[in-house]
Amino acid sequence: MVDVVVIGAGPAGVFLATELAERGLTVVGVSLQPPAIAWPNTYGIWVDELSDLGLGEFLSHSWQDCVVRVSGKTLPLQRHYGRIDRRRIQAHWLDRSRQVRWQQGEVSRVQVGSDCTEVTTTDGEVILARLVVDASGYQSKLVQRSPHAPLAFQAAYGITGRFSRPPIAPQQMVLMDYGDDHLSPADRQHPPTFLYAMDLGDGVYFVEETSLAYSPAVPIATLEQRLYQRLQQQGIEVKEIHHVERCLFPMNLPLPDLSQPVVGFGGAASMVHPASGYMFGSVLRRGPDLATAIAASLGPSHTPPRQAAAAAWQALWPEARRRKYYLYRFGLENLMAFSPLQLNHFFEAFFKLETKAWSGFLSDSLTLPDLVRAMVDLFGQAPNDVRWGLLRSVTSHGHLLRQTLVR
Ligand SMILES: Cc1cc2nc3c(=O)[nH]c(=O)nc-3n(C[C@H](O)[C@H](O)[C@H](O)COP(=O)(O)OP(=O)(O)OC[C@H]3O[C@@H](n4cnc5c(N)ncnc54)[C@H](O)[C@@H]3O)c2cc1C
Repeated sequence: MVDVVVIGAGPAGVFLATELAERGLTVVGVSLQPPAIAWPNTYGIWVDELSDLGLGEFLSHSWQDCVVRVSGKTLPLQRHYGRIDRRRIQAHWLDRSRQVRWQQGEVSRVQVGSDCTEVTTTDGEVILARLVVDASGYQSKLVQRSPHAPLAFQAAYGITGRFSRPPIAPQQMVLMDYGDDHLSPADRQHPPTFLYAMDLGDGVYFVEETSLAYSPAVPIATLEQRLYQRLQQQGIEVKEIHHVERCLFPMNLPLPDLSQPVVGFGGAASMVHPASGYMFGSVLRRGPDLATAIAASLGPSHTPPRQAAAAAWQALWPEARRRKYYLYRFGLENLMAFSPLQLNHFFEAFFKLETKAWSGFLSDSLTLPDLVRAMVDLFGQAPNDVRWGLLRSVTSHGHLLRQTLVR
């Protein structure tokens, strides 16, 4: 019997398996693809999130000139943005955790007993473990959560390639450009989408039309059409396509049931930031504490799986973090209810907050009191249409605020 089975070899699974192995636990990883197969997604992150963890070297690109374009204005962001060098960080983790035994397979069943857990793959292979961590992404079938309303999705269609002329200023990163001159008056109403773009050097750019969150998801075909309309309106032709990214993931997956005996991590554990869609930084910050809690709970030789899982869930989703999660969910509901004009006004006020306030909100690095303070400041500085929208949400989504504010 091994100490831990980790299911999934995305960023969450590979990183957690590494952290667990480094704490002396025996770990088996099971994943559909071998762990060294390149992850399909590209990951953007704020440079400070990586450098604060001593991982600043794992960037393939970084940008000092970062802007948002809202309400027809370009706002410079006093924060540097980067792209994870996904191949290098993946290889680094796999190199650090050679003692983890990875095997290819699809986990179909996990049965938890009083002293061990049985993991079965579709090939009929059975692995016995003291604890199972599911890092199989947001479509996990193993992590239980309560029934929920239809989810809101982030969706995007992006192209890496060459263009007849630069689609954004050279050496720039555009976090969001909500300009919508390229849309018909009807399309301008809903759902709002924005351009996320970066100069990758050597005349190559990445441009992506993104819907921050919407329910039902904005179809990828709509985003593709809007991206081409946006480029066309500026007289820009696509000359070469090197890669197409189609992105779709839920933003408001409810918190998992924290009493269940299978632990989640990453997308499976609802760790995507509900108001921004980012997760990589959270995986890096929260993985080590989770691994430490698991190692401590498995220290005594006969810890029942349910007891180990309870300690792990508690480390991953302590009360203060759960309360912040509900505040972000409240923020998300506002973002989805705003008209395009309100949304522009909202982001203008948001990015005019002190850098440490908006950056802490996006990276989920503020304490709950600081987060509440940032939101109160935002309310104070926002124009009336945004305040009115926020107040209306207190009525429609007050339950999320209550879960934040009432113990
Ligand atoms: C296109 C796209 C772009 C994104 N960009 C960013 C970004 O820029 N920055 C950011 O912070 N976040 C981003 N995200 C959000 C989030 O960081 C990613 O979704 C991230 O990949 C989630 O990591 P994960 O390891 O939890 O799950 P995944 O990356 O989905 O990995 C899950 C793994 O589990 C395996 N698996 C699934 N089911 C089973 C099973 N039954 N048995 C065995 N193995 C199984 C899969 O094969 C896979 O290896 C993006 C998401 C998408 C979809």
